[in-house]
Amino acid sequence: PSAIKDIVLELPETRWTDIGGQKDVKQKLKEAVEWPLRHPEVFHRLGGQPRKGLLLYGPPGCSKTLTAKALATEAGLNFIAVKGPELLNKYVGESERAVRELFRKARAASPSIVFFDEVDALGLNREDGGHNSGGNSTGVLTALLNEMDGIEELGNVMILAATNKPEVIDPALLRPGRLDYILYVGPPDHESRTEILNIKFAKMKLDEDVDIQVLASRTEGYSGADLIKICDEAVLGAMREDLEIESVKWRHFEKALKGVKSVITAEMVRRY
Ligand code: ATP
Repeated sequence: PSAIKDIVLELPETRWTDIGGQKDVKQKLKEAVEWPLRHPEVFHRLGGQPRKGLLLYGPPGCSKTLTAKALATEAGLNFIAVKGPELLNKYVGESERAVRELFRKARAASPSIVFFDEVDALGLNREDGGHNSGGNSTGVLTALLNEMDGIEELGNVMILAATNKPEVIDPALLRPGRLDYILYVGPPDHESRTEILNIKFAKMKLDEDVDIQVLASRTEGYSGADLIKICDEAVLGAMREDLEIESVKWRHFEKALKGVKSVITAEMVRRY
C-alpha cells in the first residue's frame, strides 16, 4: 500500500492563458522547461543541460500553483502534487518511505513534474529534529535530497517547489543541481489585475456599469486569489438581492470590496 494515500497523478488543464500577468515568469519557464523538451536535438547539440529543480516563491494567492499546473499542461508533463506538511506527521521511517514512493511514481509517469507546495515545512528547524514543524523533517529532507541527487535515476522528472517563506528553506535544498533556479511570483500590478479580471469577467454576466479599470485601480495590494474572491462575492451579492437578476452590477462589487481585504503585506513582497 502507498505510504501517502493522497499521491495522485493529475492531468491539469490550466493553460498559460488562464494566468493573468506574470509575463516574465511564464517566459522564463517556457525557456527553461518547454524549449529543452520540445527541441531536445537543438538543446543537446548546443550543449544545454536540463534544469532539475525550480523554486517559486512569493505571497499567497499569487498563482504559484496555477503556474506549476500550466507548465505541466503546456510542456506535456504529468503532474504530481504534494504539500510539504503532508510528508511529515508520520511514524518514524514512514515519511522517508513516502518520499521514495513519490519519486517512484513520478519516474513511472515521466516525463513528469513533482510539485512540492509549502516546501519550507521540510526545512524548519532541522537542528531540533523538525520539532516545530510537527514531524520528522530531517529524515524527509535527507530522503528528498537523495532522490534529487540521483540524477540518472531521476530521468525525466522535474521538481518544482513553492513557498511563501523562502527565508526558512533549508539551504541544502538550494544547492546547485537541486532547486537552483529561483523565480519570484509576485502580486499583480494594475495591468496584471486587469488581465486577471478580464479572464474572470469572460465567464461572468456583467452590467454595463461595471468598469474593469476602476476595479483594477481599487484593488492595489490584492492577490489574484483575492480578485477572484471579490468577483464571486459580487455574484453572491447579486443573487442575494434577486434570484431573477440578469447581471452583476457595480454596487455588488462595491459591497464585495468592503468584505474582501487584501492579505498581502509589505513583508511578503520580494526581499531578495
Ligand atoms: P498559496 O501560496 O496560497 O498556495 P498560490 O500562489 O499557489 O497560493 P494559486 O493557488 O495559484 O496561488 O492561486 C489561487 C487561485 O487564485 C487560483 O486558483 C486562481 O483562481 C486565482 N489566481 C491567482 N493568481 C491568478 C492569476 N494571475 N490569474 C488568474 N487567476 C489567479
